[in-house]
Amino acid sequence: MFLAKALLFGRLELLLRCGIKPACHKKTPNHLEAFMSAAPLAESCSNALLEALLPAEAYRQAVDQADLAISITDPKARILFANEAFSRVTGYGVQEIIGQNESVLSNSSTPDPLYQTMWGELAAQRPWSGRLLNRRKNGEVYLAEVSITPVIDANGKTTHFLGMHRDVTELHRLERVVSNQKQLIETVIDAAPVAFALLDPSGRVILDNQEYKKLVTDLRVKEPAHHLLDSLVPIWRQALATHPDDCTFVSRESRVDRQAGRARWLSVTSSRIDIHNDCAGSYFCANGQPGLLLVIADITGLRDEQERTRGAVLQAGLAEEERTAAIREGLSAAIFRLEEPMNVMASAVNLLQRRDPAAADVLQQALSASRDHLEALRQVIPASPQEILVSVNLNEILRDVLEVSTRRLLAAGIVVDWQPVPMLPAMPGRPFQLRMLFKALVDNAIEAMNIKGWKRRELVLSSEVKNGCILISVVDSGPGIPDQWRYKAFEPFFTAKGGSGRHLGTGLSRAQQVVADHGGMIDLEESPSGGCAVLVEFRVDGDPI
Ligand code: FAD
Repeated sequence: MFLAKALLFGRLELLLRCGIKPACHKKTPNHLEAFMSAAPLAESCSNALLEALLPAEAYRQAVDQADLAISITDPKARILFANEAFSRVTGYGVQEIIGQNESVLSNSSTPDPLYQTMWGELAAQRPWSGRLLNRRKNGEVYLAEVSITPVIDANGKTTHFLGMHRDVTELHRLERVVSNQKQLIETVIDAAPVAFALLDPSGRVILDNQEYKKLVTDLRVKEPAHHLLDSLVPIWRQALATHPDDCTFVSRESRVDRQAGRARWLSVTSSRIDIHNDCAGSYFCANGQPGLLLVIADITGLRDEQERTRGAVLQAGLAEEERTAAIREGLSAAIFRLEEPMNVMASAVNLLQRRDPAAADVLQQALSASRDHLEALRQVIPASPQEILVSVNLNEILRDVLEVSTRRLLAAGIVVDWQPVPMLPAMPGRPFQLRMLFKALVDNAIEAMNIKGWKRRELVLSSEVKNGCILISVVDSGPGIPDQWRYKAFEPFFTAKGGSGRHLGTGLSRAQQVVADHGGMIDLEESPSGGCAVLVEFRVDGDPI
């Protein structure tokens, strides 16, 4: 703008130098008057006076010495003035270029429509800027960033054009190198078999690759990077700005449960990356702000293999525990049932004590012997397994249970609908006991539906998080549980399955014990299909509900 004004101020001088008489020249005794009469810009007198204090010679020298190729043309692009830089860039001497058309600089490879647009803008008295391919006097081609401004007189007529241009060949080369490199990097990143996501200091994903985009559709989450960070470093949003190194880690594994399809296991590495702000205000800041680069590898296949092995071990462990539990409960049931006649015997001893002390004595001895045997029996009851509290994910526990129950479910023709919440927080728990608990519930559901002729056989397992609690529901489409048994069902040795002896009636009481040990609650309800819905609830922090 300063240069444009300067040129306007000094244009009389320049036109004179070029041997052209502007219309106002005869009437203008000095440069100030010429300026005042010709330039509408000079309507502000105080500004004009101030600027007039600078001699026109200063403007001329400024333009001459400016490190930018400047030319002034007539309306047909005939050059009337060119400065030293113009001469340096184009290779034409100032004197030899005067009178030539700007088209002398044109290299035939600039597309015609570009010139048409340029002239269209200039004809509409609007400035134009763009890149043109120019040719120096020595034939060398260079890329010019050109800016042309029409000079309009007081009558609204375009009298001249002011052209400014600079050689941007090197800049263009560097831009191309950068863009080629960017394309190359993007191609390599896109072809990589792992997903990448680059997060800026505010946590926004600013760069990703094809694999990452596949994750978005596959996991059906808006931003898998956030999802994974939430599960691996819950405080990452706060930490990124203040303690970015707390958000960095190597090969942490995260499991994402999907509503449709198998769960996916992802190995995530997060590294800090300093990102420089591109706003003008940060131009002089040498330091960047911390961002994160996430490299996400799908290790589902590997984990599946491990899971299969683990599943086999688990199945053996659960089967062993089931056998032991059956012995434990069988003995407990036997003791429970034996205690009844022994209590009757104890009452009889009391009664006989006065009437027939000898008979009472014999009975007492038999009773004592029985008590000893009962005590011996109690001693051989296998102890319950001792487990310490660890951090457990109930989705994993439920999946384990489904895994070990697959054969039975298939044999009974039961369709399983597994609806896990994608990211379930871990809770303190005893994994073995919890597996036994949910296995007992699934076993009950299978038995409830595995009735001859029963048509609807559906098992819905779901997990959700609500108000700091984890809710698990095991819903079957069996005949359901009568209302009067809703609470009784939790009593030890209660069974609704007849006295075949196969059912001890300890499954739900044991389940309730495990739930209580974890500070949770268990409830039986009628499912929408009329079957039984078992609802289990735990607090995420492990505190009692
Ligand atoms: P030309 O015959 O000059 O014109 C090409 C197209 O532009 C045609 O479609 C024609 O209709 C249209 N056109 C030409 N002159 C006018 C006009 N006066 N009014 C309306 N339309 C017109 N060109 C460069 O290649 N490099 C430069 O650095 C450069 N700097 C310029 C600086 C100034 C101040 C001005 C005014 C023009 C500049 N030009 C520059 C444009 C130049 O004048 C030529 O138009 C261009 O070089 C094409 O030249 P040509 O001989 O190939 O075609």
